Amino acid sequence: MSAGEARSIVVVGAGQAAAQALQSLRQGGFTGSLTLVGDESALPYQRPPLSKAYMKGEFEEERLYFKPSAWYQEQKIELLLGTRVPKIDRAGQQIHLGHGGHIAYDYLILATGSRPRPLPVRGADLDGVHDLRTLADVERLSPRMVAGRRMVIIGAGYIGLEAAAVARQMGLEVTVLEMAPRVLARVTSPILSEFYAAEHRRQGVTILTGAQLSRLDGENGSVTAAVLADGTRLAAEIVLSAIGILPNEELARKAGIACFNGILVDRDARTSDPHVFAAGDCASRPLVHFGRSGRLESVHNAIEQGKLAAAAILGLPRPAEDCPWFWSDQYDLKLQIAGLSQGYDTHVIRGDPASRKFAVFYLKGGTLIAVDAVNSPPEFLASKKLIMSGAKLASGVLSDTSTPMKDIAAQATA
Ligand SMILES: Cc1cc2nc3c(=O)[nH]c(=O)nc-3n(C[C@H](O)[C@H](O)[C@H](O)COP(=O)(O)OP(=O)(O)OC[C@H]3O[C@@H](n4cnc5c(N)ncnc54)[C@H](O)[C@@H]3O)c2cc1C
Repeated sequence: MSAGEARSIVVVGAGQAAAQALQSLRQGGFTGSLTLVGDESALPYQRPPLSKAYMKGEFEEERLYFKPSAWYQEQKIELLLGTRVPKIDRAGQQIHLGHGGHIAYDYLILATGSRPRPLPVRGADLDGVHDLRTLADVERLSPRMVAGRRMVIIGAGYIGLEAAAVARQMGLEVTVLEMAPRVLARVTSPILSEFYAAEHRRQGVTILTGAQLSRLDGENGSVTAAVLADGTRLAAEIVLSAIGILPNEELARKAGIACFNGILVDRDARTSDPHVFAAGDCASRPLVHFGRSGRLESVHNAIEQGKLAAAAILGLPRPAEDCPWFWSDQYDLKLQIAGLSQGYDTHVIRGDPASRKFAVFYLKGGTLIAVDAVNSPPEFLASKKLIMSGAKLASGVLSDTSTPMKDIAAQATA
């Protein structure tokens, strides 16, 4: 069957990438049978508010859902929620359902996302130890977030720090443990790490870097303390594990589809099986603006790959691929990130971090590859254009705050 002739499409995993793929398939003119199978019981919803406004109780649950249930009916999308897919039969072009039965497909989109990396210590199964990935996780965690309680957060990545900010604003006593020598070590530069660590400390969060968790202690089945390798004992009623995620690639791997830190896909989100596509956190894709492949964990990536998969299945032109971007909200700080900073050789600061409004640009061989923009949307927006253009830039130009960012971008890309 060639692209554009599909009669039945099945999407596995009911998250951000799936929601986009469904929408793009119908918008692109697909009128055949469309089925969504997801193991969570909720309609597809956005995850970013889970560690931000929703966790704080300042975001209504209804706003989490991409579409109301009526939309799926109108669009004639069959929803199988609370249903796990344990196996793909590629030869027979069908998926098996956890509770028995199977569904045939002409094309299959795997949008299985990722799951929290398990905390590898004794006591990780105690009551009061939480993950933060799903709506159900927040429903378990939120009622326990009571002012005055002690919360230990393991991992100072974006989710750990966002949760720390919310917990602190709710009046909890918060300690963040980070194994690396600085916060956000995996994702950004020492300048940003120092800025965010200082901000959290100013807000009353205790940050311990170079801290190795040894075990969690409990009483009557509930967590009471986090114990570090050096013997330090931190009393806690709540422990949040935020030590990163693992791609849900096993379903594809078991079916013989090529995987390597994610399901390997081409620019059109097609896997090693031409009838199977993969999109979102579970997929490792060509990063066209960076000349390499990799797995991204972001809303933008899930949306873009959902669109790419739908277009390829329908035989439509490939949608434009944007520069990767991400954001993080902590206290009154909106961090917007464009590009990928790994491998930068020079950085340039624009503005003064003390003013809480500044940007750090990352260059490689004189070309901008990424920006971290704190409360600075113009720097973020202009950088996206500059990164995609590959234009060479002098450091002095970027740090000159007397020239608006949009003018810098216009001149460099003319
Ligand atoms: C707390 C939190 C905050 C975040 N904040 C931001 C942010 O500020 N900015 C940003 O850009 N990104 C953020 N992200 C990341 C972003 O939400 C993810 O990158 C995005 O949700 C990925 O979408 P996805 O569709 O690939 O996977 P998901 O949204 O995870 O959906 C995958 C779904 O597939 C299901 N599934 C897996 N295997 C099976 C199976 N075998 N059968 C059936 N169903 C299955 C999973 O249970 C899940 O429901 C955040 C993530 C979290 C958890």
